[in-house]
Amino acid sequence: MKDISELFGSMVFNDAVMRARLPKEIYKALKKSVSRGTHLELDVANVVANTMKDWAVEKGATHFTHWFQPMTGITAEKHDSFISPCGDGKILMEFSGKELVRGEPDASSFPSGGLRATFEARGYTVWDTTSYAFIKDGTLCIPTAFCSYSGEALDKKTPLLRSMEALDKQAMRVLRLFGNKTARSVITTVGPEQEYFLIDKEMYLKRPDLIYTGRTLFGARPPKGQELDDHYFGSLKPRVSAFMKELEDELWKLGVYAKTKHNEVAPAQHEIAPVFSTTNIAADHNQLTMELLKIVANRHGLACLIHEKPFAGVNGSGKHNNWSISTDTGVNLLEPGETPFENAQFLLFLVAVIKAVDDYQDLLRVSVASAGNDHRLGANEAPPAIVSMFLGEELTDIMDAIESGADYKNKEKLQMEIGVNVLPHFPKDTTDRNRTSPFAFTGNKFEFRMLGSVFSVSGPNIVLNTIVAESLRQFADILEKSADFKTDLAALIKKTVCEHKRIIFNGNNYAEEWVTEAQKRGLSNLKTTVDALPEFITEKSIELFSLHHIFTKQEIHSRYEILMEGYCKTLHIEALTMTNMVKAQIIPACVDYQNDLAKLLKRKKECGDYDVSLEDNLLKNVSRLSGCLLKKLTVLDDVLLETKETQEVLEQALFYRDKVYSAMSELRAVADELETLVSAKHWPLPTYAELLYSVV
Ligand code: ADP
Ligand code: MG
Repeated sequence: MKDISELFGSMVFNDAVMRARLPKEIYKALKKSVSRGTHLELDVANVVANTMKDWAVEKGATHFTHWFQPMTGITAEKHDSFISPCGDGKILMEFSGKELVRGEPDASSFPSGGLRATFEARGYTVWDTTSYAFIKDGTLCIPTAFCSYSGEALDKKTPLLRSMEALDKQAMRVLRLFGNKTARSVITTVGPEQEYFLIDKEMYLKRPDLIYTGRTLFGARPPKGQELDDHYFGSLKPRVSAFMKELEDELWKLGVYAKTKHNEVAPAQHEIAPVFSTTNIAADHNQLTMELLKIVANRHGLACLIHEKPFAGVNGSGKHNNWSISTDTGVNLLEPGETPFENAQFLLFLVAVIKAVDDYQDLLRVSVASAGNDHRLGANEAPPAIVSMFLGEELTDIMDAIESGADYKNKEKLQMEIGVNVLPHFPKDTTDRNRTSPFAFTGNKFEFRMLGSVFSVSGPNIVLNTIVAESLRQFADILEKSADFKTDLAALIKKTVCEHKRIIFNGNNYAEEWVTEAQKRGLSNLKTTVDALPEFITEKSIELFSLHHIFTKQEIHSRYEILMEGYCKTLHIEALTMTNMVKAQIIPACVDYQNDLAKLLKRKKECGDYDVSLEDNLLKNVSRLSGCLLKKLTVLDDVLLETKETQEVLEQALFYRDKVYSAMSELRAVADELETLVSAKHWPLPTYAELLYSVV
């Protein structure tokens, strides 16, 4: 049997390796610079780099790369080998401190949303010393942040680190007010649950739509979908189980705490979740998880689909971002405490989150907006596009009591004078089983459920950290001036509950009535990406992000452009893939099938008085629909020609949403109907049934 504790982290240059291999003073200097976030001296960096290289070479590595997360949503790496000529035709394996701490990839081909037009074309990468280096596929990977020469963030890691700092700063102010002298910093923790589909690789390769866009652009509904709920938590099929075992091994080697795995609701859908860690590490590890899902699937003759909506009519895939705040001493600040004083502190952090989510619901919506996720949000399986919060009955009762000033009376007759008396414990199972809520309190953390499966968790956590930092900043400003802390604290909690309770909703988020009710409450309902993104560039948003040094106005605008362009490009690629598939595959299939039918019909008629009603009917229907297909194809082709004419990015995105997307949907509808008529022998694409049920 393999020893998992040996395996775990074996490819990571982690603290244990550093301590064992680095000279004591170098180790100390490195730790100091990590904990203070200060610059690493070059002589220290040189020793670290050399030690790292020796370790990596022993493990079989030949190359190193600065591993970073540009705005493409996936990770980027440029590999350099360790070799260095030493004059006699031989080589040395070298890695310098300079190469470790800073890299200069040619940044010109990464999306920058105009930042490079105004600044220097080149960018550089800097080692994020809070995230360990690791070996992947023979390459030593150094997790890095990616910036332009004038310091603008060109990636997702930089602003995430900034947002963690912002929250740390404001939360520490609040903790000090509660007399906490031991905590030195506050961190946010994240555990992302990752959903995905596994299908047979051979089927996958026969679907250009899956290859180019990650989702099926055609496909009639299968006779059996997820109606019977017989897949959820079902036993794992042998092929899937073998895949998951290998995936876990690979993740464990990289120090990822892969913990739970199970089948999800839809056929062929699964989930993997790690034990939570610091947000920054969780983000790195989730990127690695998504990468390895694909690589390991491939080794097993499978294709892993991480798109938010690979199949119409079947549940899409999301990512649940479990999030909490904790001190460096390990105290979870969203955990109700043992003493009245701890509970007052818990309540203040809780209402800080409530206020943040209410004040900045639009930014949370922005953080989960994408063309892919538009298929999910608002559909019947995922949270709707309306942001609201689930607190559960018990906490909601407490909020009500705070609001009305009444005593909170639990079954156990616990009394509550606001925030300074005893709070009940929340047993895990009485908290959230309301799966429809987009943002649910689950005992000692919040679960933000609107993320699409393919998202980097960075964006949503940048927003979450920043908006909660802003609530805490306002609270600290008030309470630091207070002469009577207890009274003012109680008043502040009460005021916050009264002002923001509209965001709390414990009911069914999928119900029609909720849409009306939410509107009455004045909550936003930004249905599509194009509705949501403009909220990112409002004065309010710019003010928030500038105040906490997360994004400059310029960075926000550049990101807005990148996101809008990404939306348009996604739809453009999907539309082109559709027209190609129709022309190259679907039309020829329809023609062949009609030809066969026509031949048969002719022969039968020649041979005498046969019943031809079946062929006749089929031929008429296929022929009629084929004509219709051509018409819809022409519409889409024409609409695509028009896309070049619009210049402004919002206008362009609106055009894609309103014109291109509807032309795509109409084309699909006809093709899907044809699929149900044309013989399986002629139909050129694996069907939904084949895609969803072929892995055994
Ligand atoms: P469920 O499916 O019921 O939502 P899971 O056990 O699948 O529950 O996922 C819960 C996730 O929440 C795990 O990734 C877990 O590590 C994470 N989690 C637990 N506590 C915290 C915390 N304090 N901060 C962040 N994430 C947490
Ligand atoms: Mg969950």
